[in-house]
Amino acid sequence: MAPLTPCPPWLLKDGAALMARAARDQLPHALLLSGIDGIGKRRFARWLAEALLCRRRSEAGACGGCDACHQLTAGSHPDFLMLAPEGASAVIKVDAVRELTEWIQLTAGQGSYRVALLEQADSLNHSAANSLLKTLEEPGAQAVLILTATRTGALPATIRSRCQKITLGMHDRAAAIVWLAEMLDDPETALLDAGGAPYAAMTRRDEEHVAARTLLLQAWNDLFLHKGSVGRISTSLSRLDTALCLSTFSRWTLLAVRQLENLPIGADPAVVTAISATHEQLEKEQWFTVHDRLLQLHRSDSTSFKTQTVLEGIFADIRLMTNR
Ligand SMILES: [Zn+2]
Repeated sequence: MAPLTPCPPWLLKDGAALMARAARDQLPHALLLSGIDGIGKRRFARWLAEALLCRRRSEAGACGGCDACHQLTAGSHPDFLMLAPEGASAVIKVDAVRELTEWIQLTAGQGSYRVALLEQADSLNHSAANSLLKTLEEPGAQAVLILTATRTGALPATIRSRCQKITLGMHDRAAAIVWLAEMLDDPETALLDAGGAPYAAMTRRDEEHVAARTLLLQAWNDLFLHKGSVGRISTSLSRLDTALCLSTFSRWTLLAVRQLENLPIGADPAVVTAISATHEQLEKEQWFTVHDRLLQLHRSDSTSFKTQTVLEGIFADIRLMTNR
């Protein structure tokens, strides 16, 4: 069961405008949603599709409680079809579009809309685009096609001209900042760095997390297995946030204790490997000592000092303790 898709908060007005048109029965048969990468086209399109299929839709979208909404969350709504690029070539293939073409001519099973969603329509290959044209000219009654595309210029002009284009942009910056603030420390800068695309800011954060964890794992191994100097190891972490280093390492010391006690440690495989390779370097009590030191540093003002400076001291102590 997948939950219904919320409308990205910075696109609520765009959503409400479309709902108002649907209420007046003035929705075009084909919509082309465009906008920069990470603005929320995919989620907005999905939100819109669900709202159109809901039996009790409002300006805010699908109700979440009607039969249609239950079918949507179960992935079994008969009047909803979604196409996205597939395979290594990442194109939407002609066979898939032909199926869609036949499907959309059928009468809506539940008397409401019949909605087809084509994600990244700019990845339609040539014959797939041709196959779609006929449907765009004569869609079935109550059929709505929703296309999303970042590079609308890559779509054939014949397709573009048959769709009503809606450009999704940063239409409510304050709402985006509030949304990002739940996940990021500095949402304003993150949004700026990501060119105003909130989902791009999130992706970047995730990539940075992965990069940071790789550095931390390497430093942990080198420190406890005596590879390289303390100075070199703390320098390798100098670009990371001090608090992140301290909190990650203090968490891992507790995992080492669990490993010593043969308890499951339930971390991801790379962390388990690192802990398994190092947990015998200290006695249980020593692990707790290191853990307490890390926590103290984490809670003190030290996080305002340079990462390298803070870590060098405690790393040197750890080296002494493991020098058995
Ligand atoms: Zn509903």
